[in-house]
Amino acid sequence: MASVSEPLAPIAPKVGFVSLGCPKALVDSERILTQLRVEGYAIVGGYREADVVVVNTCGFIEAAQQESLDAIGEALTENGKVIVTGCLGKREALIRERHPDVLAITGPHDYESVMRAVHAQFAPPPRNPYMDLIPASGVKLTPRHYAYLKISEGCNHKCSFCIIPKLRGPLVSRPIVEVLREAEALVRDGVKELLVVAQDTSAYGVDIHYAGNHWRGREYRTHMTDLCRALGELGVWVRLHYVYPYPHVSEVIPLMAEGKLLPYLDIPLQHANARILKAMRRPAASEKALQRIREWRRICPDLTIRSTFIVGFPGETEQEFEELLAFIKQAELDRVGCFAYSPVDTADANALPDWVPVEIAEERRRVFMETQAEISARRLRRFRGRELQVLVDSVADGAAVARSFADAPEIDGVVCIADAAKLKPGQFARVRVTGSDHYDLAAIPAA
Ligand code: SF4
Repeated sequence: MASVSEPLAPIAPKVGFVSLGCPKALVDSERILTQLRVEGYAIVGGYREADVVVVNTCGFIEAAQQESLDAIGEALTENGKVIVTGCLGKREALIRERHPDVLAITGPHDYESVMRAVHAQFAPPPRNPYMDLIPASGVKLTPRHYAYLKISEGCNHKCSFCIIPKLRGPLVSRPIVEVLREAEALVRDGVKELLVVAQDTSAYGVDIHYAGNHWRGREYRTHMTDLCRALGELGVWVRLHYVYPYPHVSEVIPLMAEGKLLPYLDIPLQHANARILKAMRRPAASEKALQRIREWRRICPDLTIRSTFIVGFPGETEQEFEELLAFIKQAELDRVGCFAYSPVDTADANALPDWVPVEIAEERRRVFMETQAEISARRLRRFRGRELQVLVDSVADGAAVARSFADAPEIDGVVCIADAAKLKPGQFARVRVTGSDHYDLAAIPAA
């Protein structure tokens, strides 16, 4: 259950909330929770005390669908009154087949339907003074010092392994001023790090023809580059996620070199072999990707690149896999995730011939990750002896866990700081790096 729990007036109906899935889904949960709070509902942390439970599901891959179906089952057993929303909500028949007793099922980012389903069970209570306690930036499920900033919904691409466009629909960008106002409110409420998320961050604004507007006396287009420029004025860390490898990504690298954005790029490349990329319906053959990465690092030597790859895609030969391994060795990416291909119901890739046996795909994943672990360790060694600015996530027993520009929360490594009793969560600190392993750094406070 979401760990959001606070007392409200006794008449407030109590809503439990289960939030599953990626950061985009987390932002949906935050919006629904904010609306519930605005309308005076109490958010509770346990099934038994809740009058009704909302489950925000994930439907990306088979394992995530199963986890969502299990969570719905648990909420039904423990509480009995369950409203389902999120990506899996698009598969209503599947949910009804497993759980016929759910009260209502709505799709992703369909906040109004969720609220209608809650209203159908319990009308909102009369307005009360507790509403004033809601921060301007709304209810957050992340720690106070960082927040996800969702700039668009949906995706216009048709990657053959992915059903996100079917679940979340085509790209719908939020106008730039709306995003910037939300960012300002988050910073006012104490957020020190903004994590920009979307299904496809680099496509931001395409659907609304990059419509412009004024903010702080200057004109900005609804476009990734302008957004980065504007966010760079807020004086907090700004980190870009889910950047599709378009050529115009190069425009934001100078902003990273100037210190306006964190020198960090989360850019899923998925593969390096041209034939596999074509079968995936993805752009950028590996030569171009390598050239771009070299150019980016020339402009911004500290750039940390995170990427994800799929091995064992239908038809992937041993030679094509070797080409991928050669690519990651040459590209020297910093942070890498790798999935063994697993078919997703209704994905177009299911129709491709020559499926790679599961055990071979798993073995390729193991070899890939082993290779990458060495690369990652080598990349991290460059930090030894250096001073870095870090953002402290937690402190316990005199030691702190923090992150540098090279570490996104939840998915990357951390900086473990010794002798850190004076540090506080949410604080920036300067540290000196004393060691490194495959994924993490060790440090002490800088003198
Ligand atoms: S860019 Fe491709 S992988 Fe990403 S959400 Fe869109 S279709 Fe899916």
